[in-house]
Amino acid sequence: MVSADEKIPGLYWVDLEDKRWPATRSLAPGVNVYGERVVVEGGVEYRVWDPYRSKLAAALIKGLQNMPIREGRRVLYLGASTGTTVSHVSDLIGKKGIVFAVEISHRVARELIMRVVSHRPNVIPIVEDARKPERYKVVFKPIHVVYCDVAQPDQTEIAILNSKKFLSPNGSLLLVVKSRSIDVAREPLDVIRDEERKLKKEGFKIVQRMTLEPFDKDHGMIHAILPS
Ligand code: SAM
Repeated sequence: MVSADEKIPGLYWVDLEDKRWPATRSLAPGVNVYGERVVVEGGVEYRVWDPYRSKLAAALIKGLQNMPIREGRRVLYLGASTGTTVSHVSDLIGKKGIVFAVEISHRVARELIMRVVSHRPNVIPIVEDARKPERYKVVFKPIHVVYCDVAQPDQTEIAILNSKKFLSPNGSLLLVVKSRSIDVAREPLDVIRDEERKLKKEGFKIVQRMTLEPFDKDHGMIHAILPS
């Protein structure tokens, strides 16, 4: 019923209701974060990763290649919200990794701390504006991955600013593009291509781009690398 992904260590696939769902091995067994389904096999707890709630899960189902978030990696996560995706990132990177979780809203960050940070030693909350990375006091390098999901019109500029400040050479940026927050009238793929051009101008190399349909109609994802 549970099988390990052939390419991505720490990622699993679970067969439920005639469908295959991604899942992660829970770093905090017994603690439910967002009402996710849980499968226990061989005494191990796997958390089913909902692609309708997490854009990273949708991207994995849609064939995200060269997944940069793996065991032991350090991730700077912008737009942590209450920790739905952060919790799965925490499972994937394991005890040797760290996810620095940046969230601007104090109210939302309180939920993040209660649901996720208090049960997971590898998640460090930062209640700050991602437009002001010079204010993060606790982030230390190397950062292997910047994940950006702030749902703001200047999301790409925020991602570039943080990547240039923290990303290690050849590190990865996973940028969630909320196409509707940039321009409601245009096709998502056109908006994604525009954001891709901004990244290229700043020296990023594009690895992959995708829309997240059918799980999410208004978002896409870009995986880019910042060469040294
Ligand atoms: N990534 C989350 C997940 O998959 O579980 C969902 C993120 S939600 C779409 C966007 C989040 O970004 C909100 O919680 C919002 O408060 C936060 N946000 C918006 N602007 C921000 C900023 N400038 N700095 C940090 N966080 C910001």
